[in-house]
Amino acid sequence: MHSDNRLRAEELSAGVCPVCRLDNGCAMVHNRPADTCWCMTLHIPEGMLKRIKEDYPGSACICKNCLQELAARMDAE
Ligand SMILES: [Zn+2]
Repeated sequence: MHSDNRLRAEELSAGVCPVCRLDNGCAMVHNRPADTCWCMTLHIPEGMLKRIKEDYPGSACICKNCLQELAARMDAE
């Protein structure tokens, strides 16, 4: 049953924020259309996307809270 468990973990990780490990609220993970996802209602600067990809390569979407925290941190720099 190991393979079943791993499959479930991979499915789960697509919906888990790599920063805080909580539900990232991604619409696609919950089988809803991508254009209903919260991230579509926000403008995410190019620089931030690049930085998220560098800090968390190959990972799922981060959640709204962490995105806002990152934005605040980048503004402070
Ligand atoms: Zn998060």
